[in-house]
Amino acid sequence: MSHFLTAQDRCDRCGGQAYIRARFSQDLELLFCAHHARRYQAALQRQISELHDETHRLTTTPY
Ligand SMILES: [Zn+2]
Repeated sequence: MSHFLTAQDRCDRCGGQAYIRARFSQDLELLFCAHHARRYQAALQRQISELHDETHRLTTTPY
């Protein structure tokens, strides 16, 4: 594992705190908050080569 997500890591869509790091290729990596990770989950699962999920750190769900 290269690094863990921190409070400084931000969602690429909304700027919220990132809990998911999705690697698409060697030089393309996107961060998502729990909300956007859920929204893009189906598409992500087909495209990513590595998914780093820290949503278990959430104590409450956004829904
Ligand atoms: Zn977001």
